[in-house]
Amino acid sequence: MGRLVVVSNRIADPRKTAAGGLAVALAEVLNNTGGMWFGWSGKIVDHSEVDDVHLEHAGPVKLAMVDLSKADHDAFYLGYSNGVLWPVFHYRLDLADFDAGYIAGYRRVNQLFARKLLPLLREDDVIWVHDYHLIPLAAELRALGCTQRIGFFLHIPLPPPLMLAAIPGHDWLIRALFAYDLVGFQSESDLDHFARYVESEAHAQRLEDQRWRAFGRTVHAGAFPIGIDVQEFEQLAAGAEATDMYERMKREYYRRKLLVGVDRLDYSKGLPQRMRAFREFLAKNPELRSSATLIQIASPSRENVEAYTDILHELESLCGSINGNFGELDWMPVRYIHRTVPRARLPGLYKASRVALVTPLRDGMNLVAKEFLAAQDEEDPGVLVLSRFAGAAEQLKEALLVNPYDTEGTATAILLALQMPLEERRERHQALMRSVRQYDVHWWCESFLGALAEARAEEKGTSWLRL
Ligand code: ADP
Repeated sequence: MGRLVVVSNRIADPRKTAAGGLAVALAEVLNNTGGMWFGWSGKIVDHSEVDDVHLEHAGPVKLAMVDLSKADHDAFYLGYSNGVLWPVFHYRLDLADFDAGYIAGYRRVNQLFARKLLPLLREDDVIWVHDYHLIPLAAELRALGCTQRIGFFLHIPLPPPLMLAAIPGHDWLIRALFAYDLVGFQSESDLDHFARYVESEAHAQRLEDQRWRAFGRTVHAGAFPIGIDVQEFEQLAAGAEATDMYERMKREYYRRKLLVGVDRLDYSKGLPQRMRAFREFLAKNPELRSSATLIQIASPSRENVEAYTDILHELESLCGSINGNFGELDWMPVRYIHRTVPRARLPGLYKASRVALVTPLRDGMNLVAKEFLAAQDEEDPGVLVLSRFAGAAEQLKEALLVNPYDTEGTATAILLALQMPLEERRERHQALMRSVRQYDVHWWCESFLGALAEARAEEKGTSWLRL
């Protein structure tokens, strides 16, 4: 394989291990190929200054970053990416803001990325574009004459065809995917939505080997469920900070079982539904009430997008009313913390918890579910309560799968999880860990890049460029 060029909206410095599994895995491949990571610098500048690409060296890896003007950032990032694509791709048409100006800003930034990236490319480069911010990037690169192999991975779900079709510009967006050689999704159901959309809306022809032909191009597509770096996480779990966290939690909660939720504060994570299910569990099981505490960590996220302020207020109010109605002088049912926990401490918190509540309404994959499993003591493991609407549910079938919209059903699963006998916990955990280990982040990287090396759209066309 030639040099790997990773393109994503945000860049994680591969020298910092705190960056998490994805950055670590990508950094490994980037290091091996002396690769380049291209993306937004995170800086917003005056319009007149948006020009230079900032280059930095992180060991053998080159980091190339562009700044964005405020207008571009607002339309591209806040507007189209997080005000349209994020909600609709998570099945929340009701939260989408279809402001007509956003799509032009989205396209402008993708064109800017293409213009700035092209001169940095070498002939044998393999380009891997990440996520919903950059769907049209390959089409923009091809318009400038780029012939290198380009793959795309969507980290979030792809909704069913009719929901996608609600987005003004949806046909342009999906057509742009045909400029890639390989398009990867998190789950089989996302892949199925892609197939159904392109076959019904774009009259694509389905060929063998997961290839589709339309607009004079053939694109390969596949499901490549992302995993965690199990080894890295186990090392983190054995470290001083995680051990200290574990011991502190065990000391503090020695009389109680802990339930834990760790999420970004996002409306896709089903946090109010989770709280209502826990309230239902408390109401239905008065004798068990003070035997369990739910710790909910919700890290601040996209606070300048309106829908996020609403979810914050709803969650605060639910936690307050649960504690007010069910709390005792010496026990509060919910500990809600609106902060990010340092990554090195997380495994300790997971390990001290008997149950994890991972109940998104919709999620591309959900890595918290896999991290929780990897942090458990295999002799006395905790139980994963997992939404059937998380991408991870396709793989983690031995979890207690729930429908997060079903308050009573989820409350019953909480009860089952808290009372599950040791033997059953061990059996489920063993089976789940087999999958977490087999499909780790290294498998994900290798299988995507392996498929990209084999996938090559033979034909060239330009009809996907029309907006
Ligand atoms: P998403 O990518 O939508 O945020 P994932 O569950 O796939 O959801 O990944 C989230 C990552 O961020 C995980 O590695 C998790 O450990 C970390 N994370 C999420 N919430 C927090 C938090 N409150 N504090 C610390 N880390 C968090």
